Amino acid sequence: MPHDHHDHDHDHGSELDDMTARVMALETLLTEKGIVQPAALDAIIETYETQVGPRRGAEVVARAWTDPDFRDWLEKDATAAIASMDYTGRQGEHMMAVFNTPERHNMVVCTLCSCYPWAVLGLPPVWYKSTPYRARAVREPRAVLAEFGVTLPEGQSVRVWDSTAEMRYLVVPMRPEGTEAMTREQLIDLVTRDSMIGTGLPLSPGASA
Ligand code: FE
Repeated sequence: MPHDHHDHDHDHGSELDDMTARVMALETLLTEKGIVQPAALDAIIETYETQVGPRRGAEVVARAWTDPDFRDWLEKDATAAIASMDYTGRQGEHMMAVFNTPERHNMVVCTLCSCYPWAVLGLPPVWYKSTPYRARAVREPRAVLAEFGVTLPEGQSVRVWDSTAEMRYLVVPMRPEGTEAMTREQLIDLVTRDSMIGTGLPLSPGASA
């Protein structure tokens, strides 16, 4: 899977500071020229912080757990299946759903920057953008998972997916045991953000509020 980023070719060591400075300079320039209103930018960020969040992704996962036809569609064409729930937008244009199985656990990273499925998970957590996560997720995924408190069975392999500007991944965790009687709405509350990045597992039925 080529990591085909169009928009960055910079020194990773100073990426965050560098990027912040460039974004601020750009925002100032655009504002001075009257091209954007700061309030409009704030509104976009606010939307992704408070309204999108990971709940959309959780709804997609819970539906996949309870609706076999939707699950098949999600596996074949996640972009269309997710769009059918009206979840489209920035960075969500091309999606692939990767399904955890007893044999394989999936985990998502962007080794070059912070590509992330905003449309279903909202804004990426700070650690996702950090240099250590980006470097170590590929090199030593099990050690990274251990730091997140996740220990996988010996026989379960880990597949790491490197996000790009063109392709974003949504991990579909396995439905927890003991949830057979739960409704889709109840299941949504078990699907954590990290379980959809692959750095966590869904909550157990007793653990949800
Ligand atoms: Fe990236």
